Amino acid sequence: MNLDLNIQDRFSQELPADPIEDNTRREVKNACFSYVTPKKPIAPKLIHSSSEMLEGLGLIGAEDSDDFLAIFSGAKLLPNTRPYAMCYGGHQFGNWAGQLGDGRAINLVEVMHQGQHWALQLKGSGETPYSRTADGLAVLRSSIREYLCSEAMYHLGVPTTRALSLISSGNMVWRDMLYDGNPDYEKGAIVARVAPSFLRFGSYEIHAAHQDVKTLKILVDYTIKHHYSYLGTPSKEVYVAFFNEVMIKSMDMVIHWQRVGFVHGVMNTDNMSILGLTIDYGPYGWLEGYDHGWTPNTTDRAHKRYRYGSQPQVVLWNLLKLANALFSLIEEVAPLQAILDTYHQNVQVAYIDMMCAKLGLKTKFQDDKVLIQELEAVLQRSETDMTLFFRLLSNFKKDGTVDHLMTIQEAFYQPEEVQGDLKTQWNTWFRSYQQRLQKENASDQERAVYMNRINPKYVLRNYMAQLAIDAAEKEDYSVIDTLFRLLKKPYDEQPEHQKWFAKRPEWARNKVGCSMLSCSS
Ligand code: AMP
Ligand code: MG
Repeated sequence: MNLDLNIQDRFSQELPADPIEDNTRREVKNACFSYVTPKKPIAPKLIHSSSEMLEGLGLIGAEDSDDFLAIFSGAKLLPNTRPYAMCYGGHQFGNWAGQLGDGRAINLVEVMHQGQHWALQLKGSGETPYSRTADGLAVLRSSIREYLCSEAMYHLGVPTTRALSLISSGNMVWRDMLYDGNPDYEKGAIVARVAPSFLRFGSYEIHAAHQDVKTLKILVDYTIKHHYSYLGTPSKEVYVAFFNEVMIKSMDMVIHWQRVGFVHGVMNTDNMSILGLTIDYGPYGWLEGYDHGWTPNTTDRAHKRYRYGSQPQVVLWNLLKLANALFSLIEEVAPLQAILDTYHQNVQVAYIDMMCAKLGLKTKFQDDKVLIQELEAVLQRSETDMTLFFRLLSNFKKDGTVDHLMTIQEAFYQPEEVQGDLKTQWNTWFRSYQQRLQKENASDQERAVYMNRINPKYVLRNYMAQLAIDAAEKEDYSVIDTLFRLLKKPYDEQPEHQKWFAKRPEWARNKVGCSMLSCSS
């Protein structure tokens, strides 16, 4: 069967293309993308597809067809389409890295379905002009991680790019998993990713860096026309308003990350979506023990630039880089600075509001900030599982009839350590919380319902993704499917899946892939 897609390419139709049309590495100027051809996989096999995304694209039932496999593995091109790789730059770990671009992502096509416009992209289908020294491929383990996590984030209510399918390529990929001089062959895979747009902060920065205001303006106008059309016809004021919108969306995204305990791991400006979507799932991780200093990315171990507690600040830093790029269109510092200042002030308020919601507080009081700071202090003193803690806290009774510590006991990694001084600190906090709850109208039951809509019961814990990977390496894809289904309803009780509502097992504490991930993927 032929895939019935309503093709509406805009990016490649409306933006300047690189005149060279092969996959060789090069510096690209005055262009937003380069036409490329995906690499044909040796023996593609469909591992999994997302039923929600199939539906979103009008492809339900097509996933078992030969065409689906051929097209979303890069083996065959859709008729009348010309795949391309996007040009972008970025600040990596604080430094301008120059041209980066889609080194292993290839955009196939844009489609319209049910009033929604989507860009479809393959990740891991071979080299492009932007591949630099790498091969343009992706390994199975990192592809499973992206596939599962992006769909899980969507169901958690976190803005994100999506995934349509996960396909093993049959190719073997040479990787040094921990960058420690032990490379080996690993199985290759391709994820078909989907988003309204894959534009990043770095997409704009690259033209500003080249002092190519013409291309920058074309791209910004394009972005406003298609993604921020409600702002009106492009003008200096509209560019400022555009930056303001990106600021708001980026703030919303990072507050969601903090809410669910997601650590992106590589918040370089090339990994910051212009639509405020979580993008480029690499060495990300989920907080287990609540710890603001934690990052799963071993490549960032020395400085922990992208640790959990820093994520809101890093967004500001990244916004500043975007502001610098947009400056040549606006030519005034003050309005851009005002937006950055607004972020700085509002992100703290947004964070407190989010934490209050996690605690089941609907009203606002001045002292709530202190309540939250004291909770964070005690949470970090005793290794406490974030997801378990907030979920179990919904069982708290405001009349104090239930032992507070017993309510959340299960969340402690070392319950025997919660003694003496630490126990006193916990009890003090619970007393404050209990007093604070007296000011709320909601009953315990109502509060529990509210909290359980904000605090997920199930997230893609680092070891869970690793279990799916270990099984998949042996061609058992059942764990991927189990987790995929589980994570569709992260806020539901799902008692049949209770075994996943548990702390990280001890074997996973320092295991590669669970708590330690590098950028190698
Ligand atoms: P990341 O750290 O994954 O966001 O990647 C940073 C840059 O490196 C982007 O331009 C990627 O497209 C590129 N890149 C990462 N992995 C590969 C790879 N295996 N082959 C080619 N380019 C890659
Ligand atoms: Mg990236």
